[in-house]
This record gives sequence, C-alpha cells and structure tokens, in this order.
Amino acid sequence: MFVQKCNNCHKHFKWVQIVKSIWKGYQPVICNNCNTEHYIKRSSRLLVALSFGLSIIPIECIVSNFEVGYYGILIYLILVTVISFIAPIYTRYNMKAK
Ligand SMILES: [Zn+2]
Repeated sequence: MFVQKCNNCHKHFKWVQIVKSIWKGYQPVICNNCNTEHYIKRSSRLLVALSFGLSIIPIECIVSNFEVGYYGILIYLILVTVISFIAPIYTRYNMKAK
C-alpha cells in the first residue's frame, strides 16, 4: 500500500488512522504495533493545507459557470472529503524527537 510504515517497527499505518489525524488537526499517529507516536512532517502539513486550499479554484469555476448557488458549498465539502481520503498517500510522519 501507499500509506506510510511505522519508523520503528515498519508496520503499515492504517489508512483511517491518517485520515483521522488530518481531520483532528494533524494529531499524532500512534502505531498499533509498538505504540510509537508519529508527528506529521511540516512539508506534509503544508501539502495537505495547499490541496484543501487549491480545491476552491475548480469549485469557483463550477459555481460561476453553472449557477449551482449553495450547492457549491456541498460540492466543496465533498471535494474536501475526497482529498482527505487521498491525502494519506502523500502525508509523511516523523517519530517524536526525544
Ligand atoms: Zn510501530
């Protein structure tokens, strides 16, 4: 799979763990196997924020061309949900610095 492995025991994180971490404001991901905490990398945090931010552009086009009105908000929410499910592919975590 594309999801990151634990830096300590090399067990893959679960997709949901990373999605949850993003939704909860980049909470640390804790390995199910060895309980090591992993913190999101600054670059990944930026990438996730950018992909959420940039998704407004296609929505703007849809809203202005098709007069979808308030459905624009709904479309944006759907897009944000989709992005957060794709995000674990490019989100990377570091072990806590001791
Ligand atoms: Zn582990």
